[in-house]
Amino acid sequence: MGLDIWGKSLKELEEYITLNNFPKFRAKQIHDYLYHRCIFTFDEMKQLPKNMREWLKENASIYIPEVINSIQSNDGNTTKILFKLKDGSLAETVCMHHKYGNSICVSTQIGCAMGCIFCASTRNGLERNLTFGEMLSQVYAFKKLKNISVHSIVLMGAGEPLTNYENCLKFIKLCNDSSILNISYRNITLSTCGIVPQIYRLEKENLPITLAISLHAPNDKIRNEILPSSKHFKIEDVIRASKHYFENTGRRITFEYILIKGINAAPKHAVELAKLIGNLNCHINLIPVNGTEHIQLFAPSKKEIFEFQQILEKMGKSATVRRQMGNEIQAACGQLKRRYLENR
Ligand code: SAH
Repeated sequence: MGLDIWGKSLKELEEYITLNNFPKFRAKQIHDYLYHRCIFTFDEMKQLPKNMREWLKENASIYIPEVINSIQSNDGNTTKILFKLKDGSLAETVCMHHKYGNSICVSTQIGCAMGCIFCASTRNGLERNLTFGEMLSQVYAFKKLKNISVHSIVLMGAGEPLTNYENCLKFIKLCNDSSILNISYRNITLSTCGIVPQIYRLEKENLPITLAISLHAPNDKIRNEILPSSKHFKIEDVIRASKHYFENTGRRITFEYILIKGINAAPKHAVELAKLIGNLNCHINLIPVNGTEHIQLFAPSKKEIFEFQQILEKMGKSATVRRQMGNEIQAACGQLKRRYLENR
């Protein structure tokens, strides 16, 4: 087995290779195989001398999880992969094929501790954090399977990224690394349910990524109902942290707001939301809830959604309705995995 070299920066790989008495340029060759040609076995790295390949097989490993299922939406714009990791855990990754390029939605944990009522990933609580290497391999499995280039990354799959902070940060840096994915920080979005102290911590990293905050409600009462973990943080404190983040990074915040009929989607909620946000420079992403099997939640009608958006716009807020992609393949958080487990 040996050292897992997956997710090592070029510099780290060079150190490892030279320490073991191989020339430094070999590290660059291996790096190119892994991250530019998606070749994940030493045997296929034909540019390396045979003795080096044999040595690597004895002393190093490349860990890429097994893809056990992949499905594509009818329109071909969304693909979802289910992975089996070393310990048997299952993780989901979604790729959305947009006009401007491919966007990959990465899971950051197995399960989730946050307990949001609409989300299938959190039904069995948190199993474990994903490592930065496991996050990177979600992206590369897609690159290999589909032979695609990746335009943007969203940390918006299963899990709460800000409770797996170090791994997520390292993963974000690997995405940006010019010798790995070379994705601009501006094209990386981290979505959080609003862990206030971690928002301040992230701000200090000074990375020009986009921060998306799952607000989902205009007040604490509704927020506590649909997002139980929000009991630890007052909605006002989430807004204050968002303001602070914007003022110190210059990066406009995105608020995600799931629209659930009968809960948070009435005109009065739109008014309350606009007032809550005040003059903060942000964008509001309205997301009609995707039905899940475990709980009866419904999206409002098209007309009601339009009205909600219009109220926000009239009150000077920038708001759009998220295009629903991959509904029929259960692209919303955790739904494919639950299906798989239930049918097994
Ligand atoms: N924990 C992070 C990231 C994972 S959830 C967070 O809370 O932001 C990311 C997003 O998945 C949520 O904001 C929501 O937009 C979406 N999501 C989860 N379940 C959904 C469902 N049933 N319908 C629509 N969107 C859903």
